Amino acid sequence: MNTGENTIIVNELPVTVIRKKIKNLHLAVYPPDGWVRIAVPEIIDDEAVRLAIISKFSWIKRQIRLFQDQPRQSVRELVTGESHYYLGRRYLLDITPTEKRPFVEIKNKKKLVLNINEDTGIEEREKLLTDWYRKEMKRILPDIVRRWEIKSGLQVGSFGIKRMKTKWGSCNPAHKRIWLNLELIKKPTNCLEYIVVHEMVHFLERTHNDNFVDHMDRIMPQWRTFRDELNSLPLAHENWQY
Ligand SMILES: [Zn+2]
Repeated sequence: MNTGENTIIVNELPVTVIRKKIKNLHLAVYPPDGWVRIAVPEIIDDEAVRLAIISKFSWIKRQIRLFQDQPRQSVRELVTGESHYYLGRRYLLDITPTEKRPFVEIKNKKKLVLNINEDTGIEEREKLLTDWYRKEMKRILPDIVRRWEIKSGLQVGSFGIKRMKTKWGSCNPAHKRIWLNLELIKKPTNCLEYIVVHEMVHFLERTHNDNFVDHMDRIMPQWRTFRDELNSLPLAHENWQY
């Protein structure tokens, strides 16, 4: 039986097709750029998938347009009770007034405490939290990179952390340098590791061709799960009976 993943182009739109043991077709449009994926029962061939996509095409286009018009993140006010994420877990923000030097700590595995002067504005709170995220990511990255260097046999010349709007990571194969999006510190460690490995594999292959996928399968067999986890919140999805 035909299982696995392939890409088809429908009206110039690339669509990832996943065949698995399911009864319904499941169509989803994902951030950050409106990536379209459809999960279908194994017996459905590409031509039937193509027709299904065409029947939902105006819906797909509308989701992509809606997303492009959307602000990237909900506005945060950095006040007590707000949800913030660290390594895939949700924490409640707690502003604890202090006259001393400001610092961030996790308390009772539940609270992300910003110890800071009460009169501070949103920018100062934001800077304190961002600096803490960056420091935490710098702390955990060296071990992760070293572990995957050993597993892959690849060498990372250097790595850095950046704020990026549209990418999780990037790399410079010539200098064996990788850049990671600071936002990854908010995601489960698996997702951070997946991006590290993905960028390392670009040292071998610049594009996401079959070779690239083979290297990913060899070095990190569960990479698809981690990728899906990283993009786990679809913008919109629809199920329908086949
Ligand atoms: Zn890539």
